[in-house]
Amino acid sequence: MKPASFEYERPSTIDEAVELLADESKFNRVLAGGQSLGPMLNLRLAQPERLIDITNISELKRADRDGDYMTLGACVTHSRLEDGAAEGFANGMLESVANGIACRAVRNRGTVGGSLAHADPAADWPVALLTLGAEITIAGPTDQRRLPLADFLLAPFETALQSGELLSAVHIPGISPNARWGFYKFCRKLGEFAETMAAVLLDPDRGISRAVIGATEARPTIIDATFTHDNAAELIEAHLPNADWYQRQLHSVALKRALEEAGR
Ligand code: FAD
Repeated sequence: MKPASFEYERPSTIDEAVELLADESKFNRVLAGGQSLGPMLNLRLAQPERLIDITNISELKRADRDGDYMTLGACVTHSRLEDGAAEGFANGMLESVANGIACRAVRNRGTVGGSLAHADPAADWPVALLTLGAEITIAGPTDQRRLPLADFLLAPFETALQSGELLSAVHIPGISPNARWGFYKFCRKLGEFAETMAAVLLDPDRGISRAVIGATEARPTIIDATFTHDNAAELIEAHLPNADWYQRQLHSVALKRALEEAGR
């Protein structure tokens, strides 16, 4: 199928984009890499009157160290991170996670901001960035607000974005040089969305011992706990009480594998 017809705008600043979004006489939709929105348009699951393409906004493509944080503009693509736009930051976790997303063609177009705004529970960035304790900035018609990613992701495909707002940046706090991380996902075929996913960060110098489980029926689940080799199943049962037996087995294995990768 082909998309229903729509108007198209390509602003070059965040202010212009937000001004266009504020015009509620049209049903607007932000377009970033189009890797999730494109299929939805083609299937006519989304029929916006106007697409606001944000990929020409240079500020949304920045990847800068900002004190202890790495700040990524919303339109930084997966492939730029794979290729080292934030090289060495988070002890290599960003490069590794980016490299595991779909295929290079998808990574060339898909963006970190698009992945977070889409809030698919089986997507890689929500899980990885929750584990790192990331924050985000949202630009709106009157001001900007910064909030923890954990408060942004409300439910599958549901975020704290209000009408007329744009996710503009992601801020990722640094981790200690000795911190260990692990990331494991299981897909039936390469490039498919995961059936389970777990990320772990063990950073004793900063007092962090955290896991995040993705590909559940809710938003990604954060587990702050002391992990041992044997308590994965118990933690999954306690934090995902509504998962069925098969899902609990999958998530337990994912958590164990991520812990093993993190050296636990
Ligand atoms: P778009 O598709 O352009 O937008 C997605 C949604 O977010 C739309 O509703 C749009 O309006 C909104 N949006 C986008 N940017 C913003 C913003 N800055 N502010 C506010 N709203 C915004 N992802 C994974 O994590 N793991 C995978 O293994 C994986 N496999 C894939 C395989 C295939 C074949 C495909 C096509 C995609 C796959 N994806 C996967 C998804 C991919 O990572 C997308 O990049 C991502 O889901 C959306 O990013 P995007 O930039 O393409 O956003």
